[in-house]
Amino acid sequence: MNSDLEKLIGLQHLDSAASDAHKKLADEPERMKALDARVDAARHAQAAAKERLAANQAARREIEKDVAVHQGRLSKFREQAMAVKTNQEYHAIQHEIAFAQSEIKKREDQILELMLAADELTAAAKKSDAALAAEQKAVDADRHRLAQDMTALKADLERIAGERASVIAGMTPQVLSTFELIAKRRGGVAIAEARDGMCTVCHVRLRPQVFNNVRKNDQIIQCDSCQRILYFSPLTVAPIP
Ligand SMILES: [Zn+2]
Repeated sequence: MNSDLEKLIGLQHLDSAASDAHKKLADEPERMKALDARVDAARHAQAAAKERLAANQAARREIEKDVAVHQGRLSKFREQAMAVKTNQEYHAIQHEIAFAQSEIKKREDQILELMLAADELTAAAKKSDAALAAEQKAVDADRHRLAQDMTALKADLERIAGERASVIAGMTPQVLSTFELIAKRRGGVAIAEARDGMCTVCHVRLRPQVFNNVRKNDQIIQCDSCQRILYFSPLTVAPIP
């Protein structure tokens, strides 16, 4: 195989790997944000659960205050009942006592309902505490893995840069600049395998003579359509359609 062509294949491999690594590194802030969002969501759920419990408890305290007021009035009426002189006064005070009792009963029922709801709300708040702790732990682990990934990617890029320097050192400058120009114009992919008489990247059929020359792998030949530098891989098995 033409030595430049062989180096171009290696170069493309390195450049594509570097491009992937750069994309992954560029995704890091977005992935970090997604991790923060997971903790935020769990924290909001926890805060909401605690607020619901607090609202339940506040409502209960308000009703208990009302009960105390009605109980105060009830004992006052009971004292007054001891001192009534007339039948009319007696009935009037009995009426007040019955009213205070029914008001107390109504509120005690409400308190009972709130207490039952509080059991569920307390359980939900506890569950949200556990969920937050679990999410924080999972996110910490993911964050650690992400940091490791980023370190590995940076190391990959350094290694790739080193390998690239040694690959291009022995290349014909004209071939390298053609490669780099096409890479720039064609989304980073400057070479294309020719298979079954076609350019496998742009899928355009090559002229038979061009394909025959490409098969020899002994010169730099560009695809007429996409301009990518063509090579032939004798070992490639055509995929089963
Ligand atoms: Zn092509």
